[in-house]
Amino acid sequence: MTLKIFNTISKKEEEFKEIEAGKVKMYACGPTVYNFAHIGNLRSYIFEDILKKALEYEGYEVTHMINITDVGHLQSDEDTGEDKMELGAKRENKSVLELARFYEASFLSDLEKLNIKKPNIIARATEHIEDMINLIKKLEEKGFTYIANGNVYFSIDKFEDYHKLANLNMNEMKAGSRIKIDEFKKNPFDFVLWFVNSKYENHILQWQSPWGKGFPGWHIECSAMAIKYLGEYIDIHCGGVDHIPVHHTNEIAQSESALDHKWINYWIHGEFLTTDSEKMSKSSGEFLTLEKLIKDGFSPIDYRYYVLQSKYRKTLAFTYDKLEEAKKSLDSLRKKISGIIANIDITEVTNVDAVNKYKSDFKECINDDLNIANAFTVLYEVIKDNYISNNEKKQLIEDFDRIFSLNLIQEQGNNKLNEERIKYIEGLINERAQARVNKEWNKSDKIREALLQEGIEITDTKEGTVWKLR
Ligand code: AMP
Ligand code: ZN
Repeated sequence: MTLKIFNTISKKEEEFKEIEAGKVKMYACGPTVYNFAHIGNLRSYIFEDILKKALEYEGYEVTHMINITDVGHLQSDEDTGEDKMELGAKRENKSVLELARFYEASFLSDLEKLNIKKPNIIARATEHIEDMINLIKKLEEKGFTYIANGNVYFSIDKFEDYHKLANLNMNEMKAGSRIKIDEFKKNPFDFVLWFVNSKYENHILQWQSPWGKGFPGWHIECSAMAIKYLGEYIDIHCGGVDHIPVHHTNEIAQSESALDHKWINYWIHGEFLTTDSEKMSKSSGEFLTLEKLIKDGFSPIDYRYYVLQSKYRKTLAFTYDKLEEAKKSLDSLRKKISGIIANIDITEVTNVDAVNKYKSDFKECINDDLNIANAFTVLYEVIKDNYISNNEKKQLIEDFDRIFSLNLIQEQGNNKLNEERIKYIEGLINERAQARVNKEWNKSDKIREALLQEGIEITDTKEGTVWKLR
């Protein structure tokens, strides 16, 4: 049984076949660290975590890489506006790098709270400028670039089949509003590889380059860093659907032009999370963060569970009512599971065939383009089954939770908790301690409640906060 997954470039579900036996190289576009991640961004990282865990469940060794964009991402993906990092630094009166490190740490802490496995490689754009310059030089030598108004552009007319990922119609797009015309572009779809232009002369982060002092365009960073760490042939590249028409399309153009061959085998995209009012947008000011959900009395895992209720390829409209429902449903699921665990009788007879059948049913759902909703149905069947023992149920639930990562098994005694879970609990306790220092009593109470809901009781002592399982 192999994983079948929807490949954006072929527009169909395909059987996953790795390049190197038993190994998967997976690149996911990471955050632009000029603000907190919003819960829409986090939906994408949850989907990528499920994809990675599904591959690991199949037995692959996955090398998962993300980038941290700390320079070069302008307000629009098409090279107009100001650098988002510079805007953020002005807004908060911080240096660009201070801002970047602050939001990077906050992003990594969000991942941890959501039980998202830390990527194996995390590469910062500002630490790889040399690699980007080398890639641009290569493209220049091969004749894919031109210089206009001081900036280095990639000429998409030199690359055959530029629209193969997004399948866009050139003429329609030219007439449409996507591209704000830059008068220096020969083709409106051309994009900047290196900025030297005087428009950005006050840009704080600048580096020497063969084309003059300046800074890289956003798209080149992913190509340069992914090639450096994962190589010239990569299994999977993923991200949110917004990246299909511009960012990933440009990544393909520049990477394949430099390498002279196909670069990525599977392009896998997660759909958007939207709110009732407006599209989730970090630049719009008010947006929903994990922190906000915690303040409102939800645990990060409530949000993970909520996200897992819908297919990654479907838009998910966020509402607090539905999050509340998800929270209740997770709570009741955990209670059922606690009941099972409390009643384990190891002398009960085993039913190996039934257990194997459940495992294979579960795998079938996961391998069906990550059909997590159906995988939950299998979980509920296991819980209801009267012909398998509680011990077997527990083992199955534990096994399924390798992918769900919802802390479904809550055993008695701290020593039975795995490292990931302990980190999660301690992360929330530290956050509560910080809230108390800031006199944010409401937040501190909400965290206590959220932990209690997950079966963790905390007590404040003179030596600090201690916790135990209820
Ligand atoms: P950014 O930090 O904006 O560069 O985006 C980080 C990741 O979040 C990328 O994979 C985006 O495609 C994804 N993303 C952005 N907005 C949303 C949204 N509303 N829902 C789901 N994913 C999103
Ligand atoms: Zn990228």
